[in-house]
Amino acid sequence: MRLLFVILILLSGCASTTLNTDSDVTRQQLLLLPNFIANSMAVDAYKEAIRNAEKNNKLNNNIEELERVTTISNKLIDEVSIFREDAKEWKWEINVEDSEEVNAYCMPGGKIMVYSGLIKKVNATDDELAAVIGHEISHALREHGRERMSTALVQQVGIIGFAAYIAEKGIYTDAAIQAVALGTTLFFALPNSREQEREADKIGLELTARAGYNPMAAVSLWRKMSELSEIKMPEFLSTHPSNENRIKDLSEQAKKIKPLYEANKNK
Ligand SMILES: [Zn+2]
Repeated sequence: MRLLFVILILLSGCASTTLNTDSDVTRQQLLLLPNFIANSMAVDAYKEAIRNAEKNNKLNNNIEELERVTTISNKLIDEVSIFREDAKEWKWEINVEDSEEVNAYCMPGGKIMVYSGLIKKVNATDDELAAVIGHEISHALREHGRERMSTALVQQVGIIGFAAYIAEKGIYTDAAIQAVALGTTLFFALPNSREQEREADKIGLELTARAGYNPMAAVSLWRKMSELSEIKMPEFLSTHPSNENRIKDLSEQAKKIKPLYEANKNK
């Protein structure tokens, strides 16, 4: 009975996670994994990342960097309600980890991590940092992680096995350890699809413009990343292949969304 109930919940998940806004992202998503499970996996995986960084003395060591990232992130978070009403109430967290990696992520439920390499190696301006953080927040708003986890889990264990797993997780709390490993693996190992990337680009541009950051910075940021890749491929580029098409799309969309920036730039 419990199993049947879980299967019914899983099969009912087809919707768009965000509202239709200026960026015009309306794709219907197959969301088999319930939201609360994806989020609890993300919380555990994020805690684990924080614990590891702390253990290695790599967490929030540079107060200036942390304040800068926090200010930019908070301005972006102030604008999330237009995309989905619940997001403002998420338990947002913002941290900076000392790392050579040129990268950042935002886990489901609003768990942001920026690597210091992104700030230093790219010499990112505030607008450019906002472009990356805005893009990452957009993945979380669209629940792309949950979509990826849903597909992967169903592919791996099949719908019945997956339902059994969920049902069991509800009964046994010691399955939490397994869930951390699973959440970490799924979140970090599975790349976003091209379509998800396009959506995060579009929503990210709108989000930054609404927060008063220049959307054209996305274009200069990608160019800087490409230049950097001649020396060594930045981690961000390995999951976000940059090519002339993407830069062209970004620059066209940035121009389209520019009036929003003009209206909000003195925020
Ligand atoms: Zn992305």
